Amino acid sequence: MIDQYARDINYLRVSVTDRCNLRCTYCMPKEGISRIGHDDILRYEEILRIIRVAAGMGITKVRITGGEPLVRRGIVEFIASLGTVQEITDVSLTTNGILLKDCAEDLFEAGIRRINVSLDSLDAEKYARITRGGNLRTVLRGIRKAREAGFSPIKINIVAIKGFNDDEIIEFARLTLLNPYQIRFIELMPLGSAGSENNGRYLANDFIRERIGKIGRLEPVNGKGQKSDGPARIYRLAGGAGEIGFISPVSRHFCHTCNRLRLTADGFLRACLLSDDEVDLKGPLRAGCSNGGIEELIRQAITRKPRQHEVFCDEGHIKKCMKEMPAIGG
Ligand code: SAM
Ligand code: SF4
Repeated sequence: MIDQYARDINYLRVSVTDRCNLRCTYCMPKEGISRIGHDDILRYEEILRIIRVAAGMGITKVRITGGEPLVRRGIVEFIASLGTVQEITDVSLTTNGILLKDCAEDLFEAGIRRINVSLDSLDAEKYARITRGGNLRTVLRGIRKAREAGFSPIKINIVAIKGFNDDEIIEFARLTLLNPYQIRFIELMPLGSAGSENNGRYLANDFIRERIGKIGRLEPVNGKGQKSDGPARIYRLAGGAGEIGFISPVSRHFCHTCNRLRLTADGFLRACLLSDDEVDLKGPLRAGCSNGGIEELIRQAITRKPRQHEVFCDEGHIKKCMKEMPAIGG
């Protein structure tokens, strides 16, 4: 599926729930977000049908996300069912890692090989503060279990937050010297009702890269710092076992190479994370729409995919998105 800006759309991110067992301050307000009613959440068989149709149109990669995907009952079986869609060659998962220790092996059995775990601090008290109650040791145990189960690569997502974890940049980077993790610094985005929490806390990745550059040479992986790994620019600290990635949606947007569609937890197709324009799939699906009709709606979403988002790193010009990250699927 080539869009009007010549991008090959082959990647679908699926938010299976907007619920979460954490309340990260930059993602949700402390009371949680207004939940999508049970009936409005897409059922697994509906998601599977959409994925089948999208696969027939050229989608080959699917990432399961949320909210916290591992809190949804039946998630392992659902992931296993994706193995029946021949065209899908890559299924991955983004999780906060809290429930990982109990299901890492089952997820591996179900066919997942690539996993991203979000971890914004290596300090137990700070981790509890940013997640409003999360237990760091539980996540670290989950990561260890994932490693033992055979997941590779294990990517660790860190949202860089000024005044919170900027003092841990080096510690995170040093983790890659001995461990085969890919540590990824993600720029804070102005999304949803947690957006005001984020005011003034954005930290550009150039700053982080410069800081890490002071402890060792950052070698671009595959020679160009542009290993084909979606939007991340990947490096290795000289002599390190792991990698360091920089995902810079704000300072250095990667819209010209964006190959993604997002299926929201309530059944809308969103062509750009940072634009509220969506196409309803759930309504037509439940009204008996044929596969051909769904195909047409997917095509519509792709046609409407903007050339680029309109969020700017200049604080004065930030344009906020209304939908919450957990419902969209980060
Ligand atoms: N609950 C899972 C987790 O935390 O990994 C999956 C969903 S979460 C929305 C996906 C990713 O989005 C996480 O890595 C999280 O840190 C990131 N995220 C959430 N809100 C963000 C924001 N405002 N700016 C940048 N990244 C954000
Ligand atoms: Fe939950 Fe993930 Fe959002 Fe944190 S970032 S509140 S873990 S959905």
